[in-house]
Amino acid sequence: MDKIIKSLSVSGSFRAFILDSTETVKKAQALHGTLSSSTVALGRTLIANQILAGNQKGDSKITVKVIGDSSFGHIISVADTKGHVKGYIQNRGVDIKKTASGEVLVGPFMGNGHFVTITDYGTGKPYTSTTPLISGEIGEDFAYYLTESEQIPSAVGLNVLLDENDKVKVAGGFMVQALPGASEEEIARYEERLQAMPAISSLLASDNPSQALLDAIYGDEAYKCLSEDSLSFSCDCSKERFRSALVSLPVSDLEDMITEDQGAEIVCQFCQIAYQFSVEDLEEIINDKA
Ligand SMILES: [Zn+2]
Repeated sequence: MDKIIKSLSVSGSFRAFILDSTETVKKAQALHGTLSSSTVALGRTLIANQILAGNQKGDSKITVKVIGDSSFGHIISVADTKGHVKGYIQNRGVDIKKTASGEVLVGPFMGNGHFVTITDYGTGKPYTSTTPLISGEIGEDFAYYLTESEQIPSAVGLNVLLDENDKVKVAGGFMVQALPGASEEEIARYEERLQAMPAISSLLASDNPSQALLDAIYGDEAYKCLSEDSLSFSCDCSKERFRSALVSLPVSDLEDMITEDQGAEIVCQFCQIAYQFSVEDLEEIINDKA
């Protein structure tokens, strides 16, 4: 089962989130049938959203939109503070690797654009924040967002490793933040260690990725694990929810669905479940509107 571990240095000046998101990204790939580059891009977005949701207190929803102008199109993800995340990528078919190393390419296919977050505390006034994409690799774009928009110096790593058949093998990430009160010496030590840190892909490939990430972040500094919570890909759609969407359509559109299509099928963008509405369902909706 996927998890997010929240940890704090014993000095209280640094904190780190460590995520195992393997099952989350496996499920996303299975539901959406994404090819290699699309899988990694969608996976990184889901992990970034899991980190942002882990950063929230109380009951809220966080939407992440990575909006690029290249092949991927938009990547949209929504997470809640109970460990659920869902998401999709507009173009699931991007499949580009370097010939020599087999490395999956992401950045060039995101292009220029924006990293957008929408935080909804349930008050009806969602809070939106936008920063430009720096590289399109999503991890760097997310770190820039955290530092610029939330004004907290942050280091982030997130990645998805694929097996020889381009299926998700392991996915995960981390976020390290300096808290107010961190001394300059301490900041310098963490910076040095983060710069010397092995690539996230090699840490994720180790036998115990969560421990490898903690070791790489804290080195021999003392830290404590504050909590460990489960994470999963989970969609909250339902036929009732899509019925509400149909209720908001003009009667003439609903009548067209009855006469031209003898019903309607709505596919959830986030999980690909198809909901069928029969002629009787549609007639009932028209009656409800009247
Ligand atoms: Zn759904």
